[in-house]
Amino acid sequence: MDFAKLNMQQTIKLIADRTSNAQGTFIVTANPEIVMYARDHPEYSGLIQRHADLVTADGIGIIKGASMLGTPLPERVTGYDLMLELLADADRTGKRVYLLGAKADVNQMAVARVAKDFPHLQIVGARDGYFDLEDLDVRQSIIGAQPDIVFAALGFPRQEQFLAALQPALPTAVLMGVGGSFDVLSG
Ligand code: UDP
Repeated sequence: MDFAKLNMQQTIKLIADRTSNAQGTFIVTANPEIVMYARDHPEYSGLIQRHADLVTADGIGIIKGASMLGTPLPERVTGYDLMLELLADADRTGKRVYLLGAKADVNQMAVARVAKDFPHLQIVGARDGYFDLEDLDVRQSIIGAQPDIVFAALGFPRQEQFLAALQPALPTAVLMGVGGSFDVLSG
């Protein structure tokens, strides 16, 4: 996997620069489980290679491994931390945010928490993550909401598969798989 050699601040700046150039960013925060899974599933690693604009190292094990291989990475950039940074930026700039995924009650609690902590961003849609990936209605309703950012908490590889299918219709949006982050946010 091709990790970005960027610390958190540089990662945020890269995403902001891409957004100002009307370039979308598909973000994968790869933890060791994702790296292992990708190694055993070429269709998943291929999807990440084709679609991801930014792969960050979500775990100290990845930082250590990269060091041992002589390709050091500056620091851990976790999905949860990056999500909070993007939410704070969205709050400053009034961005349109879609919160997709987790169980319905967890999703609702995550929406409430985001609305409370980041009152100036717009939540343009939200729904749970238990639907058929082929369900075009889900995809269509997200596209119709015209979000600037989609956080997808569907677990891997589901979230990356869903976001890859969404990407062509939202070419300027930030699309990010956030795993279990809504559970943390709502807890
Ligand atoms: N999830 C979902 N739909 C599914 C499977 C999982 O929305 O079909 C949600 C689940 O409720 C949880 C998150 O995806 O909120 C996955 O969390 P987990 O910690 O298992 O994922 P990881 O962080 O390891 O990718």
